[in-house]
Amino acid sequence: MNKVSENQPTDFIREQVQTDLDKGKYQKIITRFPPEPNGFLHIGHVKSICLNFGVAEEFGGECHLRFDDTNPAKEDQIFIDAIKRDVEWLGFEWGEKVYFASDNFNQLYSYAETLVGEGLAYVDDLSSEEIRDYRGTLTEPGKDSPFRNRAVEENLDLLRRMKSGEFKDGARVLRAKIDMKAGNINLRDPVIYRISSISHPRTGTLWKIYPTYDFAHGQTDAIEGITHSLCTLEFEDHRPLYDWFIKNLPVPAKPKQYEFSRLNLENTVLSKRRLNLLVEKQLVSGWDDPRMPTVSGLRRRGVPAFAIRDFISRLSIGKSEGIVESAMLDHCVRDYLNKFAERRMAVLRPLKIVIKNYPKNKTEEIDALNHPGDESKGRRKLPFSREIYVERDDFMESPPKKFYRLGPGREVRLRFAYLVTCEEIIKNEMGDVVELRCSYDPESKGGNTPDGRKVRGTIQWVSALHAIPAEVRLYEPLFENSADVNKDDFIDRINSKSLQIITDCLLEPSLSKASCAEPVQFERIGYFCRDEDSSENNPIFNRTVSLRDSWDKKYK
Ligand code: ATP
Ligand code: MG
Repeated sequence: MNKVSENQPTDFIREQVQTDLDKGKYQKIITRFPPEPNGFLHIGHVKSICLNFGVAEEFGGECHLRFDDTNPAKEDQIFIDAIKRDVEWLGFEWGEKVYFASDNFNQLYSYAETLVGEGLAYVDDLSSEEIRDYRGTLTEPGKDSPFRNRAVEENLDLLRRMKSGEFKDGARVLRAKIDMKAGNINLRDPVIYRISSISHPRTGTLWKIYPTYDFAHGQTDAIEGITHSLCTLEFEDHRPLYDWFIKNLPVPAKPKQYEFSRLNLENTVLSKRRLNLLVEKQLVSGWDDPRMPTVSGLRRRGVPAFAIRDFISRLSIGKSEGIVESAMLDHCVRDYLNKFAERRMAVLRPLKIVIKNYPKNKTEEIDALNHPGDESKGRRKLPFSREIYVERDDFMESPPKKFYRLGPGREVRLRFAYLVTCEEIIKNEMGDVVELRCSYDPESKGGNTPDGRKVRGTIQWVSALHAIPAEVRLYEPLFENSADVNKDDFIDRINSKSLQIITDCLLEPSLSKASCAEPVQFERIGYFCRDEDSSENNPIFNRTVSLRDSWDKKYK
């Protein structure tokens, strides 16, 4: 795969891995990326993906793709498929096997019986509200449940009956017996199994009880032989519990958990729960709405996988939380597309031009370069004729001096074609300019000035006879600029102008064959990518990113 950087700067995780290998603690490292299949992946997950897969690759180890599918209430095969597609598209390989926490349900259950047998777990009949009340707070210790001291045999009997489906959902739970007075609330007898009659995407109705995240995660790491279990900082307080299970169970390996700071992106929600709400309330068209910070949304908008990886590689892997400017992602996208996207002609708000001295029935082919800095991308032919369209904004009736585009009597270069001079303005009854009559200089083919006269402005155009109509969708951030998207009222902060649809745009004919996977630059406008909703008669293009780069100016 295309590496974003040969010299990945080191970080505390890579240093730890290096030390463990140097000391011979492991011959080979194994990491894992463990998404819960309850939503699509977002760009925050990509930080974890790049770290887990990246570290494994750099140190000659392997990285498992593991679905943490222990909560059937929210999980779905649709999400499993979407996650696999996204990881693959980002350019990572997980080998022959996809891992599932549910592969280990038998083993995990047997670990639960082990804990019960050792007097380290008990069945609790308290309701979930009571359990919460008994748990105490950060400043107050918890209280023991009245069921805490059940005999081993009774616990075992109840656990087996929970497993066989004898009790209704929520009637009982299995809890680890640790310490209700522990300073760390996670150690106050955490729930490790709950009853649920919901069908599981992979095991169906076989299981009536499901392990919690905390119980499943570390043990699954151990079963898979994970050496370094990398997760985000919110799990730091769970580490003592992770270690407690590993210490008290006959697991085949002793993985270690390391935490790094999550990615937070300015004006963007990076939480599956919140993204799911946007989808459910139909505030976006789906998980892959091009305004979503999901991998599928970014892909649909035309953001290349490489640019996402490049962006991620510029982030530090550390312990301090910060908010990254979204302009930095845009910068990486422009950086890539500027080098690789072919140039095309498009006019979003067309203004007609009739070239009075150009022969009426003539069409000629204009030779155009596909990329100004890369001859290897070749050339194409653009049809040119007497009637063309240009961008409405490229004309002003009373232009200021420094407006180097069209105005009464002004001469401009039509990109790759000819020089034209505006001679007449046609208006409708309302006084709007609807057409310009120009003359062209037949000696200026290719855009040259035969006598060396200076023509500063160059504008794009399409031939009226040959252009194809299209719909163009422009995107702005989904949330208002100043919005604190981490508050619960984030839904009220949606930017009502985040999607602007322009119909009746005109594109050069070659764009009828554009691919959804290859963004192009519409000259002088921005980078665009064909949307998969396009039909033959109605091509749709998404603006991936505009040409302007505020981040670049600010930081270079
Ligand atoms: P979300 O909060 O979006 O629901 P999650 O942590 O609940 O995310 P998981 O599917 O459990 O979602 O996450 C899989 C992995 O991705 C975890 O190891 C998690 O730490 C990591 N991850 C999730 N969000 C981010 C983020 N913003 N930055 C870095 N890593 C993340
Ligand atoms: Mg989670």
